[in-house]
Amino acid sequence: MQNSIADYESYHKILLIEDNPGDARLVEILLEESDFYECKIINKTTLASGIEALKNDYFSAVLLDLTLPDSKGFETLEQLIKASPDVNVIVMTGLAAKEIGIRAVKVGAQDFLVKGEFDSDQLAKTLRYSIERNSVLQRLEETQRIAHIGNWEFLVSTEIFKLSSEVYRMFGYLTKDIVFHKRLLVQHVHKDDLEIIDDIVRSAFKGKLVTRDFRVIDKNNEVRYLNIQSSPSQPNAEGRYSNVKGIVQDITERKLAELELLQSQKQYKTIFSQSKDAIYISDGRRIVDFNDATLKLFGYSETELKNLHVEKLYLNPDDRNHFLKIINEVHSVKNYETELVTKNGSVRQCLLTTNFISNDDFTGYHGIIRDITERKQTEELRKAKELAERSAKMKEQFLANVSHEMRTPMNAILGLTNLLLKTEVDGEQDNYLTSIRESSQHLLGIINDILEISSLREGKINLEEKELNIQDLIHNLTTIIGYKIKEKNLELEINIEENVPKCVLGDVLRVQQVLTNLAGNAVKFTEKGFVRITVEKTRETETEDFLEFRVTDSGIGIPEDKIEMIFETFTRVFDEKVKTYGGTGLGLAITKQLVQLHGGTVRVESVIDEGSTFICEIPFKKFQLSTETDKEPEVEEIIDLNIGRDIHILLAEDHKLNQIVARKTLEKEFDNVKVTIADNGKIAVDKLAENEFDLILMDIQMPVMDGYEATKYIREQMPPNKANTVIFAMTAHAHMAQDEKYKEYGMDDCVLKPFDPKQLFSKIAYYIHRNNNQKDSDNNTENNMSNSNGMDIKIDLGYMDLMADGDNDMKKVMLELLFDEPVEEIKSMYGMNKNEDWDALKKVSHKMKSTLAFVGNDTITNINQEIEQIAMDVSTTEKLPVLIRQLDEMYQVVLVQLKEQHGKLN
Ligand code: ADP
Repeated sequence: MQNSIADYESYHKILLIEDNPGDARLVEILLEESDFYECKIINKTTLASGIEALKNDYFSAVLLDLTLPDSKGFETLEQLIKASPDVNVIVMTGLAAKEIGIRAVKVGAQDFLVKGEFDSDQLAKTLRYSIERNSVLQRLEETQRIAHIGNWEFLVSTEIFKLSSEVYRMFGYLTKDIVFHKRLLVQHVHKDDLEIIDDIVRSAFKGKLVTRDFRVIDKNNEVRYLNIQSSPSQPNAEGRYSNVKGIVQDITERKLAELELLQSQKQYKTIFSQSKDAIYISDGRRIVDFNDATLKLFGYSETELKNLHVEKLYLNPDDRNHFLKIINEVHSVKNYETELVTKNGSVRQCLLTTNFISNDDFTGYHGIIRDITERKQTEELRKAKELAERSAKMKEQFLANVSHEMRTPMNAILGLTNLLLKTEVDGEQDNYLTSIRESSQHLLGIINDILEISSLREGKINLEEKELNIQDLIHNLTTIIGYKIKEKNLELEINIEENVPKCVLGDVLRVQQVLTNLAGNAVKFTEKGFVRITVEKTRETETEDFLEFRVTDSGIGIPEDKIEMIFETFTRVFDEKVKTYGGTGLGLAITKQLVQLHGGTVRVESVIDEGSTFICEIPFKKFQLSTETDKEPEVEEIIDLNIGRDIHILLAEDHKLNQIVARKTLEKEFDNVKVTIADNGKIAVDKLAENEFDLILMDIQMPVMDGYEATKYIREQMPPNKANTVIFAMTAHAHMAQDEKYKEYGMDDCVLKPFDPKQLFSKIAYYIHRNNNQKDSDNNTENNMSNSNGMDIKIDLGYMDLMADGDNDMKKVMLELLFDEPVEEIKSMYGMNKNEDWDALKKVSHKMKSTLAFVGNDTITNINQEIEQIAMDVSTTEKLPVLIRQLDEMYQVVLVQLKEQHGKLN
């Protein structure tokens, strides 16, 4: 609305729509004569120009002639009202018929005047009245709009609702030009609320003042909430009701706010009741409101809790005082940790989050209590577990480090003991040394186990896939445990089921290790009865055979509560009986890890005092004859380094004891081996630059320059004749050898420390012969020394040298003693055998034993020993002719070498 109420009062513009100039002029004159002179008349002569004028300007009133050039009769009025619904129209008719005027008012006119009948007073009065009325109506509309209130009237006979503009707006209509029939209302009222409208009308008929809320879906499809009120309706004289009136108010905003509040109250209620945390309101002394969780936390009944002083809930009164001090100062506390006490006296660790509240009716606190007792306990347990795991890891790491460090001196002890055993020692010393060797080997076994478990844990062990013959596997196993089985007089039963394939693909050494552990334990923990080993194929897939190995014994058994533990590291079942068996408790832990590494399982069934069965199932890849098993170059077994010249070996090793052991072992075994020592990689490189070596034994960890660096330097920086020198890595790390890691560093082979002399010798022999053969074929130089009958017998005069102690004459005498007499003695053996003079044969072979100790060849010593044994037992004497012949022939070869040595001393 563009105009203000003041506009109506001070100055009025009147639109006169009249085509007859005489009539128009008359209206002007009459108005001028009247006291209604503060107005301006605008005359339009057609309906269209009148409507146009209304669009562009505001008029306090319109005087409308119903008969115009472009429209006639009531249509003129209807069109005008349609175009401008709020217009204040006074119809001017040419007929003095009252019905026309009444009809005009019904259609929407404010009043009517009959042309030619009204004077200036009547015109002025009509205008003033209609303007005043219109102004009141407009103010009412304005008020309704502001208050969102409208009025309605229901006409019973026509079922039409007469609505004020504001009600139209409530239904989403911007203009009033639509007839609001009950049908239209039904379309807009929410279907669940239709009943309310009927009820309102019915109640009004009963003379009741009713007010109800209902929903409408407005023209824009939005839900609005309305409050409808009806006034009691009076029947007419015939007792019939013609209409009902009332007001309606748009309460959407209030309703939505209420609903929202309700919703949030509901949500709050849900949170309150379902919260796992205790939620409470306290007046500082008592808890006045609380949820179920509060009751649950403290264990009191509702009444008990309401009557309890909050003080009683704190374990420590100081805690509460401190809490109150903070809340009174800052009005809010977050996560205050304290200990609260429940009804049964148990203490709960809690976090309090509290706010201070103060309003007209209440002063106190509201807050949340979170019980963190379990969380704290779990946290503490987790920390303890972590600590325990870390400690266990550190313990294992420490053990692994110590074990690693122990291997080097163990190497020295074993090596030196072996050397000592080769010298002349008396029976008692021999016993002591043998004990030292056995204890050292045992200790080395433990060290190896510790290192093995640590490697397994760190995932450093890779499995090989090679042809694995099950028969061989079991045969080896029986050889290993056979001795103990015999000693303990146990029965050994072996059963390989027919469905077990001959070969599978697998890691022979590891599987052997698993079975040796299990079978070793079976023998260890069994005093009488049997040990049974069975193999069976339990299932197969297209690519895999699942083999089950069972190791059963009739031994002491394992208590049920210990069965779970025995696969843990360092676990041993301790009771009076088991204590005597010894062991580290590592075997089964290694076994389990190895089996798991194969993707298999191991478990045990056991009955105390009856025996145990360890069941181990491993999936193996199927072996096909065509399967390529990457065969390693076979190491030649002939341990002979005689190539007609000295062999120079460079030993790069920083550990003094290891230097001695390696050098002595090599030089004692082979006359022609000369060992040069370099204390580190740098010295090794320098020595190689100055001299030629056939082979380098390269320790990996060395100061100044380690084995990797030295090898790299040799291979890349030195001239070809030096760069191609054979290099062996010497390491205590088994995985270096297994993964052939040394190859990545340019080394040819690898020996594990502490080294097995036989393995070291055979590896050296392999490379020396390989290189020598190459040289021979290249240079066609002199032949390898070979003796007349083609036999390779190696003599070792270390013992003799030790006895001679540098006295060459003495040595010569000793050598000469070996020339004739032993030959004679061997010859005599033929006759003794023929005459079956076993006693004489025993004596002569016994004497021969001491002679052969000077020769230093195991094969010939063993043959002589076997002859002595047969003569002693008088069994298998049929073997004797062959054995004596072998001894004779071998000694002939030895004799040549002895004489050669003798020759050198002249
Ligand atoms: P070790 O034998 O070195 O102690 P193991 O890990 O091989 O370590 O075995 C752990 C423990 O399990 C043994 O100490 C023993 O108490 C128990 N155990 C293993 N095998 C058997 C068995 N066949 N019979 C009875 N007890 C056994």
